[in-house]
Amino acid sequence: MSHEKFLAELISTLGADVAQRGADVPERYHTDWSGTPPQRPLALVRPRSTQEVSAVLRLCTAHRVAVVPQGGLTGLAGAAVPSQGAIALSLERMNAIENTDTRAGLMQAQAGVTLQAVQEAAVAAGMVFGVDLGARGSCQIGGNVATNAGGNGVLQHGMMREQVLGLEVVLADGTVLPMLRPMIKNNTGYDLKQFFIGAEGTLGVVTRVLLRLRPAPQATATTLVAMADFDAALAVLKRMQSRFGNSVAAYELMWDSFVQASLSWLKLSAPFAESHPLLALINVDGKNESQLQGDVQQVLEEAMEAGEVLDAIVAQSVAQAQTLWKLREAPAELNNNMHPAINFDVSLPQAEIGRFAQACEAAFSARWPGKHALYFGHVGDGNLHVSVDGKTVGGECEAVEAELYRLVGEFQGSVSAEHGIGLHKKPYLQASRTPQELAVMRAIKQALDPLGLMNPGKVFEL
Ligand SMILES: Cc1cc2nc3c(=O)[nH]c(=O)nc-3n(C[C@H](O)[C@H](O)[C@H](O)COP(=O)(O)OP(=O)(O)OC[C@H]3O[C@@H](n4cnc5c(N)ncnc54)[C@H](O)[C@@H]3O)c2cc1C
Repeated sequence: MSHEKFLAELISTLGADVAQRGADVPERYHTDWSGTPPQRPLALVRPRSTQEVSAVLRLCTAHRVAVVPQGGLTGLAGAAVPSQGAIALSLERMNAIENTDTRAGLMQAQAGVTLQAVQEAAVAAGMVFGVDLGARGSCQIGGNVATNAGGNGVLQHGMMREQVLGLEVVLADGTVLPMLRPMIKNNTGYDLKQFFIGAEGTLGVVTRVLLRLRPAPQATATTLVAMADFDAALAVLKRMQSRFGNSVAAYELMWDSFVQASLSWLKLSAPFAESHPLLALINVDGKNESQLQGDVQQVLEEAMEAGEVLDAIVAQSVAQAQTLWKLREAPAELNNNMHPAINFDVSLPQAEIGRFAQACEAAFSARWPGKHALYFGHVGDGNLHVSVDGKTVGGECEAVEAELYRLVGEFQGSVSAEHGIGLHKKPYLQASRTPQELAVMRAIKQALDPLGLMNPGKVFEL
């Protein structure tokens, strides 16, 4: 059947307000924040309900038209970029928070609600939501599920997967799969919702999410700590964890190259009189603010005596804590300042992160002496981000990727800690997955999406 017939039926079924032809689709839906070359979708569909999502997918199945789900388009792997001849299915109108139950610690929301709206609603209810990341104002909770997002809270609460109690999903043929049971324990065969978490839209469209909320900490202490090397950083993390246990809520490490970029791009004042090889931003939760600040101060003094810490600032107010955290916001500026930004988000055995960063520096400098590379990450959970400015490596983006992923293999890491595979990391997926694992992934895809219509060409080829 021709696309014209499909488009006419789509618009007559859903209305011109919900479905737009490709020529009328604004450019912002042509690509995501990953810098992937834009592609105009065959149509843009912005449904308002699960029933409308189901109707769209039934039509797409009947006409064999591919579907690319789109959330907030902040993904960094190109996974939400339309493929040729596919429709873009944006969840942005399905943005209601439907229920917040503080006694049970649950929130039910439609997939298109932003992460920030979820966080704010949780705080308004006297609780917190366990996932936080720099794109919070734009990324959607459905996108967070589809990418199994990580971010700043993983150390304490785990990744998105650990925050999801239930999902409602629409399969490629339009079948609605309601899995919104408010229970932590449910050992009744396969845990089907897990298939869709981290699937990057290749198995179905997430339409509703049942989330776990956590008790709000009564106080949080924030400290910025300067250290000479990675071994010192690891020693400080262990020291903090042995004193505060799971109350260490964030441990974000920034190499000096990242700190200098942050200061310059965000026009911030330097936190210390001199620069240091590594800075860690640490949040510790507790009950009483002044006592917590004193306890943190004491641990830092012990660490200083042990030669692990060179200098430290303990925030004395929420405003000062927010100022310190601004240092970590440079990733939002990468695309404006690097041309292009070659971004990596790799996972490594935690103790190896420092040596891995040194190996990257050595390998990059040997081949591209003028290269500009930044290192930062959620080191508390083994996740390192690296960003290289493409113009400082003569535009040899693929060679930079090949070099870095070669080192990931050498250090037995994973090519994606949290951003996913999308289009960008497809060539390297087999570095982190065995042929047997890939065969099972393909079998699951075949079972749930036999026509291969859900986000085709993303994660792997069929
Ligand atoms: C400044 C910045 C900081 C970031 N920091 C982090 C970080 O710390 N940790 C982290 O994990 N990520 C981070 N990211 C990456 C990104 O924000 C996350 O991957 C986020 O979860 C993507 O959500 P989104 O709604 O923007 O999804 P999109 O980019 O729109 O889509 C991403 C993928 O999810 C699929 N998808 C979206 N919605 C649905 C749905 N309802 N049903 C099925 N599939 C769907 C898409 O098809 C695509 O495959 C960052 C990005 C930026 C720009």
